[in-house]
Amino acid sequence: MSSTKLSFDGGWEYAPAPQDTSHISLDDRYGLFIGGEFVEPSDGRYFDTINPATEQSLASVASAGDKDIDRAVRAARKAYEGPWSKMSAGDRGKYLFRIARMLQERSREFAVIESLDGGKPIRESRDIDIPLSAAHFFYYAGWADKLDYAFPGRDARPLGVAGQVIPWNFPLLMAAWKIAPALACGNTVVLKPAETTPLTALKLAELVRDAGLPPGVVNIVTGAGETGAALVNHPGVDKVAFTGSTAVGRAIQKSLAGTNKKYTLELGGKAANVIFADAAIDQAVEGIVNGIFFNQGHVCCAGSRLLVQESVADEVIQKLKDRMQTLIVGDPLDKNTDIGAINSKAQLERIESYLGLGREEGAEMYQGGSATPETGYWCRPTLFTGVSQSNRIVQEEIFGPVLAIQTFRTLEEALTKANNTPYGLSGGVWTDKGAKIFKMTQQVRAGVVWANTFNKFDPTSPFGGYKESGVGREGGLHGLSAYVSLEAGQ
Ligand code: NAD
Repeated sequence: MSSTKLSFDGGWEYAPAPQDTSHISLDDRYGLFIGGEFVEPSDGRYFDTINPATEQSLASVASAGDKDIDRAVRAARKAYEGPWSKMSAGDRGKYLFRIARMLQERSREFAVIESLDGGKPIRESRDIDIPLSAAHFFYYAGWADKLDYAFPGRDARPLGVAGQVIPWNFPLLMAAWKIAPALACGNTVVLKPAETTPLTALKLAELVRDAGLPPGVVNIVTGAGETGAALVNHPGVDKVAFTGSTAVGRAIQKSLAGTNKKYTLELGGKAANVIFADAAIDQAVEGIVNGIFFNQGHVCCAGSRLLVQESVADEVIQKLKDRMQTLIVGDPLDKNTDIGAINSKAQLERIESYLGLGREEGAEMYQGGSATPETGYWCRPTLFTGVSQSNRIVQEEIFGPVLAIQTFRTLEEALTKANNTPYGLSGGVWTDKGAKIFKMTQQVRAGVVWANTFNKFDPTSPFGGYKESGVGREGGLHGLSAYVSLEAGQ
């Protein structure tokens, strides 16, 4: 994989630092992973998954139809009623530990494939996505034989077959979030990755097979929205776990009404990062950059709104602009890259339409970062000033490296503005004063609020939203309870 010399308006030039790709292997074509083996889709349909940095096809991937979904759900049911429920909880845990260790052993291969398929910088897939995915398997492996301690006095029983649908922004990590707690609690799964990023889930299928899991415990089916809808609506599914957009989450919730299926929905966000005048400004600027430009802003909990106290607004915005000038946009496989490729052409068009909208709404736009390559899907880091609360770029999720900046005078005003959104997934507060941290973290209506840091994840910590950001929690003990029914203890 070649890399050109990187330069940007800041003046320095970095020599390319390309990640070696010789150790990865990708097939030209992937079938559906059902009942422990890769099988052809029943109607023979395939689609290409594209490298968004080169616009080249990486592999051809099966598109699962209704018959395939039925077959996958039956395979999962058979495994649930067969070997998986007969196995001791301790042995179930051993399989999860094995998956975690194998992921660690093959972490570089998974990281490279994640960056190729999704466009995220190798630094992120290498240092965040893959290690965190392994950490989730380790964490839930430990719980498998300790459910009595997780739910004292209750008898925690698995739900059955889980139908799981995930998005493209953290493909392997979202798969780990879904599969690890489900298996730890004794369920079996059918998982559908996003159509633009199926490859690490398919590599995970290979790993699951190599780990010797009984056939049918984990099934991976690929396809687009129709495939996802067929899965969540299949009568053989007992539990639905969905991560994706609020619009699709709403449609799923409607379709599940009146059924006995348990569900969790992890949806969109429009988080406010609130900077008080007494904050450590340089650290806060790094936190803002990490909060919105990390992973191209393809982060549900991204700090896509900045609320900065009026007295330091000019200083913060200037420092932010200076820092944005130094950000390197380009080849995801170069270790210098800060901002990789936008995941798909459709997503780039969506982001660009919001850039136009912001200007139409009268906001002032500023873009930093290096010049972008000619081929591929790219967006330079962007901020808007002069926005008002009712602007669509303040209210709606853009899911790109785009920051809307507002100012405030008092803590109460910051709170009102932070909460004035249909979403409630995350938030951030930067201040030197503990009292302000407590006030803000208690009153910002969001599932997670970071203080003097941003975008930190841990498998032991629950994650999920209020309002239109979703229903239920994943991660930690909360993540276990989504996969069990709790009966009265003996
Ligand atoms: P999306 O809703 O378009 O797609 C998500 C997944 O759902 C994909 O696998 C897709 O194929 C599938 N899907 C599409 N239509 C479906 C239907 N009718 N029934 C069942 N499945 C269907 O979202 P996206 O564009 O892939 O992802 C971006 C969104 O995900 C953003 O809104 C982001 O905030 C959200 N997200 C939320 C979290 C969280 O934890 N809250 C995490 C990551 C992403």
